[in-house]
Amino acid sequence: MKNIFSVPFHDLETYFIDNGDKAFRATQVYDFLYKKRIFDLDKMTNIPNNTKEKMREDFDFSFIKIIKKQEDTDVKKYLFELTDGNRIESVLMYHDYGISICVSSQVGCNMGCRFCESGRLKKVRNLEPYEIVEQLLLIEKDLGIRITHVVVMGIGEPFDNYDNVIDFTKIITSNKGIDLGIRHITISTCGIVPKIYEFTEDLKGVNLAISLHAPNDTIRNKIMPISLAYKLDDLMTAIKHYIKVTNRRVTFEYVMLSGINDSKACALELAKLLKGLNCYVNLIPYNETENIEFTRSKKVQILAFYDILKKNGIEVTIRREFGGKVDAACGQLRAKSY
Ligand code: SF4
Repeated sequence: MKNIFSVPFHDLETYFIDNGDKAFRATQVYDFLYKKRIFDLDKMTNIPNNTKEKMREDFDFSFIKIIKKQEDTDVKKYLFELTDGNRIESVLMYHDYGISICVSSQVGCNMGCRFCESGRLKKVRNLEPYEIVEQLLLIEKDLGIRITHVVVMGIGEPFDNYDNVIDFTKIITSNKGIDLGIRHITISTCGIVPKIYEFTEDLKGVNLAISLHAPNDTIRNKIMPISLAYKLDDLMTAIKHYIKVTNRRVTFEYVMLSGINDSKACALELAKLLKGLNCYVNLIPYNETENIEFTRSKKVQILAFYDILKKNGIEVTIRREFGGKVDAACGQLRAKSY
């Protein structure tokens, strides 16, 4: 039985029409669920009883559960338990421009990036769309807020769960429901090239972030196994295609690993690779965890790297550090959940 929060608006319309009901029931149901935040069918006053009975037979209305919350100044990390007992995490962050949530898309991850705590546990399964949607709904309810930006960058590789991530995006951007601006959503990939082409066609306007982390195949092969399947040249061709079709700026995530990818030569090579592209680079000071051998680049090294990119005309920022105290920082999700 499909969970109601997994159903995109147009599929719900089709469901009602196929069942001899009115198409506008979908508008009514979306209005209750996502605008009024009434999740109990009994309280959906203008839906006829026979429609409710049929919906009870056809849809599951269950929720994942918040089982732990950790807080730091501008960040809150939530641990959720899914109905099958698996656990995932989301991180909420307050910025000057709004409130963002970083959601998980899988239980575990098969991509095996060597610096990543989240990827140490192999993928157990994909998340269904409702399990991603409910991360957002439950955190909004818990804090009494409305989230303005979504990044799909938590546990999991979103493009390894492509269809469900697309449905999730359709659900949260529907103007019948949450109505989040498509430009306020960012999907991050470690570089599954064929899916970048699909994504470019399917979700025009959604932002693309690339976990790059190295300026060449030699280093990338050492720290990101996906690079053995998709070469940097092919990845860059797909990214250029995305920029050409969407006219959107791409973000490159680059985690600074001491002695691995943080030399001046790497900075120069990266600048050459990205020259002329509509993009910016986000340098991420690495968050060391006890199970992984990599160490964080020294501050002076990060600043030198930053300067070289800047001088070569590449837009670059050093990521403001969020959540180190609650293990909510990049690459730390799931490190201590069990
Ligand atoms: S960085 Fe992302 S894609 Fe790589 S292992 Fe971690 S969660 Fe998976």
